[in-house]
Amino acid sequence: MTNIKSYKLFIDGKWINAQSGETFDIINPANEQCVAKAANGDERDTLKAIDASWNAFKSWSSLPVSDRADIMMKIYNLMLANKEELAQTISLEMGKPIVQARNEVQNAASYVQWNAEEAKRVYGNTIPAWVPNKRLKTILQPIGPVAAITPWNFPLSMVTRKISPALAAGCTVVFKPAEQTPGSAVQFFEIAEQAGMPKGVINLITGNPSKIGNTLLSDKRIRKVTFTGSTKVGKLLLRQAADHVKKVSMELGGHAPFIVFDDADLEKAASSVVANKFFNAGQVCVCANRIYVQKSIQDELVMIVKQKTEALKIGNGLQEEVQLGPLVSSEALAKVKRQVDDSLSRGANLITGGSEYETIGKEKGYFYLPTILTEVNERMTIAQEETFGPVMPIFTFETEEEVIEKANNTDYGLAAYLFTENLSRSIRVSEALEYGMVGINDAAIAAVQAPFGGVKESGMGREGGPESLIDFLETKFISTVI
Ligand code: ADP
Repeated sequence: MTNIKSYKLFIDGKWINAQSGETFDIINPANEQCVAKAANGDERDTLKAIDASWNAFKSWSSLPVSDRADIMMKIYNLMLANKEELAQTISLEMGKPIVQARNEVQNAASYVQWNAEEAKRVYGNTIPAWVPNKRLKTILQPIGPVAAITPWNFPLSMVTRKISPALAAGCTVVFKPAEQTPGSAVQFFEIAEQAGMPKGVINLITGNPSKIGNTLLSDKRIRKVTFTGSTKVGKLLLRQAADHVKKVSMELGGHAPFIVFDDADLEKAASSVVANKFFNAGQVCVCANRIYVQKSIQDELVMIVKQKTEALKIGNGLQEEVQLGPLVSSEALAKVKRQVDDSLSRGANLITGGSEYETIGKEKGYFYLPTILTEVNERMTIAQEETFGPVMPIFTFETEEEVIEKANNTDYGLAAYLFTENLSRSIRVSEALEYGMVGINDAAIAAVQAPFGGVKESGMGREGGPESLIDFLETKFISTVI
């Protein structure tokens, strides 16, 4: 029996219970056991957190940037010192294989380090005036208190992707993690407290999403919303943000095409598509959702991909050798089942998988076998909707023009991948794809020093690289007559 933890809210530098006195359960998706109880915050707690972030803004934003960066570097070092504990929490609450969870902690810490360094390079400009007695310049200033809302699939790296550029820019934060996975966020806040974060600068609130969301969005003092999650909730927040013209960054859904041309290195393409598609059990917004294979190489590629897929080790993510864990919830499992059943009933061909995975003993988790489908067409639900599960639908194409058109035929525009050994083709196709990020012979593209984000209904704004800080700053133009 797991030791059941208790998570409180962190508001104005104090760990407190929700005003409601209520908690909600955090469930391990590998065995349906309750692993923690989290405070069920509502409007009242959210208001307190906004007050705290508002009151702390003046002092935090005027602190010398090197002092802000020093606190952030302490957080970075403490995260690495607590890497195993953080990784275990991630795996326990959402099923991620432990090796991937450790990588997530490393990656999450890197965002803090990168933004601490970038904080020191927030430069304005001087602008040549067109008259002799004027001097023109710009300075960059923090936007103000920020609301940050994150999903469950990268519970820790989402925290630092949002909080660390905000802190570096001089903003304060009210942070709401996903209800499924608050544990590693709680640990991050404990670490920040230990690192000497002044009270009120970052505040953590768990609980009812719409009550918390409505309070954050309807308060004038919150100047920006940074959100990662579904396109549906993203659109709702955008509408709410319009009332006070809040700044927004949105990292929403994806429907990534993964294109393999007949001149590709097939071994490399096959390894990459398996690693990309089944990473985090396919619960990644940049994971391949539509695999387009040029017709002449389909049989050969499918054979290699099948072999690699069937070799994956499935099980509880906390076991060292596991490569594919459970899905996050029974709803997620039901969605995957629905998409596969729909495809099969409309004529798709099952190459491997296609059913739930029975766990050993009495444990009841949300496992689905890694699945490959061929003969997939545009009329099937899987061709239109994000899957967020371990299912690889394979489409075929004949020409470059045809596949570009098919790949772009979606409202999403986050990540796209293409595999070819032809240099000219790689340039042509990467430029024609309507996506925020493109991998050429590369299916692991996220990097802390590079901009991550989408176009079309996949969102706006970028996280990572110098762009991440810009999103939390306002440009002020100052004109002086001398
Ligand atoms: P997913 O389908 O991946 O769970 P969601 O968009 O539903 O994605 O959730 C992402 C984050 O948005 C979570 O923290 C969730 O609690 C939050 N959320 C969901 N609904 C709302 C809402 N109405 N207002 C604010 N946040 C919300």
